[in-house]
Amino acid sequence: MVEIAPGAQQFIPPQADTLDELRAAAAGCQGCELYRNASQTVFGRGDATARVVFVGEQPGDMEDQKGLPFVGPAGRLLRRAVDDAKLDPGHIYLTNAVKHFRFELRGKRRIHQTPDRVHITACRPWLVAEFTKLNPQVIVVLGATAAKALLGPSFRVTRQRGELLPWPAAAEHPEDFQRVPVDSVGNTTDAPPTRLLATIHPSAVLRADDQDKAYEGLVADLTVAARALT
Ligand code: SF4
Repeated sequence: MVEIAPGAQQFIPPQADTLDELRAAAAGCQGCELYRNASQTVFGRGDATARVVFVGEQPGDMEDQKGLPFVGPAGRLLRRAVDDAKLDPGHIYLTNAVKHFRFELRGKRRIHQTPDRVHITACRPWLVAEFTKLNPQVIVVLGATAAKALLGPSFRVTRQRGELLPWPAAAEHPEDFQRVPVDSVGNTTDAPPTRLLATIHPSAVLRADDQDKAYEGLVADLTVAARALT
């Protein structure tokens, strides 16, 4: 049962200048009930000057244990796809729409549960705060949950995957993403033209009946992102 979800906003330090400061503050977030059962907050990681930012759904079991995003099987597959799409793996930033692991216990096993709209909404302020410290050329949305968080509930990955969309114009609330950093002390300017591309989550490749075909589709979409870089 979903209880009260006051949202992450009150846990975000207004004067945070860096992703590290946001990450430290996120460790204490109680913006929704997911913090209660998960091991820890799993904040984004990677190059703050990354030209490509990936947004996934939520940390999985291994990510929850290690406190790092995309370190489980889906993360390994994503790294392989990044290589195959000729994206530079050293210059990407990886994060999730929801920063605590949602699961249900079956015996001793923790089974992934898709976050509800209430969790996506509660956690969105962290995503917005991350974007104020990032300045990507391309944002890659991995799967339906991340798409809902950034583009709104009516966006369908299956219909628009692999398509370059204008950012932040395509966002659910573009004004949330209008400003980007120009230095390390918190000054910002209007966001330059950026593009967003949605594709499937790498975990969908792992679940697919035809994994080779699903993987090829993921790489094809990421190749579109790679070619959009200037
Ligand atoms: S999922 Fe997001 S909003 Fe909910 S407690 Fe974790 S960090 Fe806070």
